[in-house]
Amino acid sequence: MASSLYHVHGEFCTNHPWEVIVGTLTLAACMFTLDRQNPLPPMKPVIKSCHGCVQETEYNAVEVVTMTILRSLAILYCYYQFRKLYKIGSRYVLGIVGVFTLFSSFIFTTTVVNILKIEISDLKDALFFFLPLIDMSKAGVLAQFALNSKNELEGKTNIAKGLAELGPSITLDTVVETLVIGVGTLSGVERLEMLSWFACLSVLVNYVVFMTFYPACLSLILEFSKSDKFYATKEAWNLFSFKEEDPKSNPALQRVKLIMSFGLMLVHVHSRWPLKESGVYSIEAHRAQQQPFNNTEDSDPTEEYFTRWLALGADHIVILILVTALLIKLIFFEIRENQSNLVEIHQELLKESEEVERISKETTIVTKSQMPFINFSLEDPSDSTYDNKEVQTTISASNSDAESSPEDDVPKVCKSLEDCLKIYNDVDLGATALTDEEIILLIKNKHIASYQIEKAVDDPERGVNIRRKILGTELLGSSQLLQGLPYRNYDYSLVMGACCENVIGYMPIPVGYAGPLILDGKEIYVPMATTEGCLVASTNRGCRALKYGVTSSVVADGMTRGPVVRFPSIVIASQVMKWIQEPENFQKIKEKFDSSSRFARLQRITTKIAGRFLFLRFVATTGDAMGMNMLSKGTEVSLKYVQTLFNEMEILSLSGNFCSDKKPAAINWIEGRGKSVVCEAIVPANLVSSVLKTNVHALIEVNNAKNMVGSAVAGSIGGFNAHAANIVTALFLATGQDPAQNISSSNCMTLMESWGPDGEDLYISCTMPSIEIATIGGGTILPAQGTCLEMLGVKGSNIAEPGANASQLAKIVCAAVLAGELSLMSALAAGHLVTSHLRHNRSTTLLPSAFDRNQNLLLPPCKYNV
Ligand code: NAP
Repeated sequence: MASSLYHVHGEFCTNHPWEVIVGTLTLAACMFTLDRQNPLPPMKPVIKSCHGCVQETEYNAVEVVTMTILRSLAILYCYYQFRKLYKIGSRYVLGIVGVFTLFSSFIFTTTVVNILKIEISDLKDALFFFLPLIDMSKAGVLAQFALNSKNELEGKTNIAKGLAELGPSITLDTVVETLVIGVGTLSGVERLEMLSWFACLSVLVNYVVFMTFYPACLSLILEFSKSDKFYATKEAWNLFSFKEEDPKSNPALQRVKLIMSFGLMLVHVHSRWPLKESGVYSIEAHRAQQQPFNNTEDSDPTEEYFTRWLALGADHIVILILVTALLIKLIFFEIRENQSNLVEIHQELLKESEEVERISKETTIVTKSQMPFINFSLEDPSDSTYDNKEVQTTISASNSDAESSPEDDVPKVCKSLEDCLKIYNDVDLGATALTDEEIILLIKNKHIASYQIEKAVDDPERGVNIRRKILGTELLGSSQLLQGLPYRNYDYSLVMGACCENVIGYMPIPVGYAGPLILDGKEIYVPMATTEGCLVASTNRGCRALKYGVTSSVVADGMTRGPVVRFPSIVIASQVMKWIQEPENFQKIKEKFDSSSRFARLQRITTKIAGRFLFLRFVATTGDAMGMNMLSKGTEVSLKYVQTLFNEMEILSLSGNFCSDKKPAAINWIEGRGKSVVCEAIVPANLVSSVLKTNVHALIEVNNAKNMVGSAVAGSIGGFNAHAANIVTALFLATGQDPAQNISSSNCMTLMESWGPDGEDLYISCTMPSIEIATIGGGTILPAQGTCLEMLGVKGSNIAEPGANASQLAKIVCAAVLAGELSLMSALAAGHLVTSHLRHNRSTTLLPSAFDRNQNLLLPPCKYNV
């Protein structure tokens, strides 16, 4: 009810601003000239003092000191309020509040002069009391209501809304303040009474101005500032969002205030009733009696005026110094400091945008020209190739990138669900006009799906941060929990809808390199992402031993998808199987399959029957893509075609595990999947001894015992190697492959023979029949992974020869595996494995040293699995 009254009042003020302003000004002018037209009996006698007796009576030393302190405090408070507003960052607010303060002061001055009939020199007391009583924060909140709008109309509605919200509580506050301060007017202490009158008037004038002149002024500002630029400051306004307390005060507090005002009212009525006859004037009369030297008729008023001001010289000097110091501080230090901060921020933003532009240009150039190889010049760190996009990798208390501070645990004041929803659904405002807490409110109430936050706020990084807040604070119970998982400075636009869902950050993994690895006459530097100490070092040693190069060959290429279909009987199942095996029928299916992609080409269909189930293994080349999605698409189209011919065929699953994807399966080992690659190399005896610290005979013996016999004894499928999966996985992670496909991709047989006329040298080969790999699609599109592909000269699609990049990458994998095999087998043959692992693969920060002072092993070599 009260709110709607204030709302109506607010609408009136905003719709008739000129009338309200002129009305208020006229009232002020009338009050100023009131005594000249129709002198009122003074509420208190004019305080006059006699020449020469002022100091002894009114202005004793204690009073001067006390009043100086009070005035200084009032000025400091006022300065603090302005500074707070200045920090909001909007010159509009500061201007509006400044006008409000000036006008309030003017009205107050005229009121005091006319009602209390005091001398101008006494105004200094009145004004100092007035300043702290002006509630600039409320003025700031109402200004925020006005400015936080898209257009004039919305601004005016917001002012009325603001008055409706602030009005009742401000009115109650004014009543309580007036009554509380009014008690001072009953004290009987002359000076306190005088000050209490001032203070009461301050509160009342402030209230009247706030409720009339101020909203009308705000409305005029909106009318005069119709330019888009003005409303464009809304963004900046939101940025420095003025977090004031909830304008609707606590209802319990409101009740206490009401009861308090009622009690105070009783005190006032009771105290003033008996005095009614003599009234306030009796106090004034009493005061007049106490002015023994009140006879100033003979004295010169100008001289008296100056005497009075001079008498208070010390007081004035202190106040003057304080005001000057504050002004100097504000103008010469804080404003400049703020400006230089803004310049710095602006420059940083400029740099950032230039950097982004540069990177995007470079990316375009690289993609367009399909650079075959990028030479790394380690000597030139200034090379732009090394300009790194900043990523968050450390947790620092001072780092604003770090996850939310403990303050974030404190629930922040936010708009109501209804208001949030309105803003969110507003095409002009949307989620950008809401705070994170308000977005979380909408998510909790199922107005935004938690997997779509990025889309809803139209800012992937902000979306990720909001999800982290929900997961950390709401679900896991601590906002600090996710602090170690970075999320800033990452291009999530590439991730969304392609690489990951429900994103809460990214996982930094150390990346090392091994090389040069001489592969088919080319020098290659192999990026490896791993947390296993020794792995990169060991592979690097293998590369050094392969100084005379590795030769490679891709012997087969075909990604697979193996659906399972069912027929009513084995008779029809076997009929269909035979039908598919007919070359002309295969051609019909191939036509359908190939039509689904520009690059996927069906090579063959392998069939297997099991009762009335029929398993079909579609094998297709897929260009530079790994091809799983392409195979799925082509297979589905093909099956639909077969189904039109054999309508009794039931497609049970597009994947019937005959593919077989991401599971150990003999079929991949035997038939191959993806790229089938073979690599070989000759390592002269001298390198075996100097680099690998072993001999050819020992190597061959260990390889035979371990990789052949040992794996056979273990019943291994495709595991005839020492640690192919180590190198495959490190390279897969570095180059954005599907990491789960390390299962089949690590299938490898490592063979060793003696070589040369005397059999002194080593022949080594690695056969890897199922490397599932890509240079396009999946995680290869991400910037870091793309960079590693660029390192290898195989990024993206090979336009001249589709599939050549992926084949080259498969060869690199196989050659790097060969280097890794050579090194690890040598370590085993020489008995160095445990020593080197304990030296390089144990965190010395967490574990005690494994060696004594003389480098003797302290721990038993029992834990290593190879
Ligand atoms: P994809 O990104 O789904 O498809 C590759 C896209 O690149 C196709 O649109 C293809 O064109 C286009 N392309 C452009 N140039 C090409 C070139 N030179 N060679 C090949 N294609 C080229 O990639 P995908 O390899 O088929 O699938 C990989 C994704 O599947 C990965 O994200 C992986 O994690 C995921 N995956 C899926 C399954 C599954 O069961 N579906 C299983 C495991 C993994 P066209 O449209 O003309 O073909």
